[in-house]
Amino acid sequence: MSEFDHAVDGDLVRGPDGRVMVPDDVQEAIRTLIRWTGDDPDREGLLDTPKRVGRAWKEYCQGYLDDPGVHLSRTFEEVGGYHELVILKDIPFQSHCEHHMAPIIGRAHIAYMPTDRVVGISKLARVLHGYARRLQVQERLTAEVAQCIQDKLAPSGVAVVIEASHSCMTARGVRTPGVQMMTSRLLGCFLDDQRSREEVMSLMGY
Ligand SMILES: [Zn+2]
Repeated sequence: MSEFDHAVDGDLVRGPDGRVMVPDDVQEAIRTLIRWTGDDPDREGLLDTPKRVGRAWKEYCQGYLDDPGVHLSRTFEEVGGYHELVILKDIPFQSHCEHHMAPIIGRAHIAYMPTDRVVGISKLARVLHGYARRLQVQERLTAEVAQCIQDKLAPSGVAVVIEASHSCMTARGVRTPGVQMMTSRLLGCFLDDQRSREEVMSLMGY
């Protein structure tokens, strides 16, 4: 088993300095990429770059070490008869697109309609980050967050809306800064009942 396989298993290999070890083949791949862009990986400023990039990517993709559903396993049933919408708005997140490995920077709104249990509100953000810190497409990220909440909490409805800008579009390709992509996934009552849908969308600011 290489160090890299080991790391994917969630057991990061750390050096004596406590920092994540970046296997040689990963460093070599980054050196190759630097050479391909037209620079010299042996010049002083770039010497430690392969290690830094390797560690940075392990952090960007931390979600592979996480089972996002775990964050929803502790629920509270004492909700004092509260059966109305719970909404967490404007959660900033960062992800990377799987087509270009370029940053996706955005914010998400997550809502659910509890039946008999609720979760600590910060847990919804943890679910988002667990899926965002992977190579993603925004459509799948939106759907995965919604489905995870549906599966774990069995609420009567879930709504996830994500707005994000994709660096692969703003910094390269058509180079159109300021463009936001919007995706939504509505389940249960938010899909079936127009009044619930209007309520959640208006609370989200749409
Ligand atoms: Zn892309």
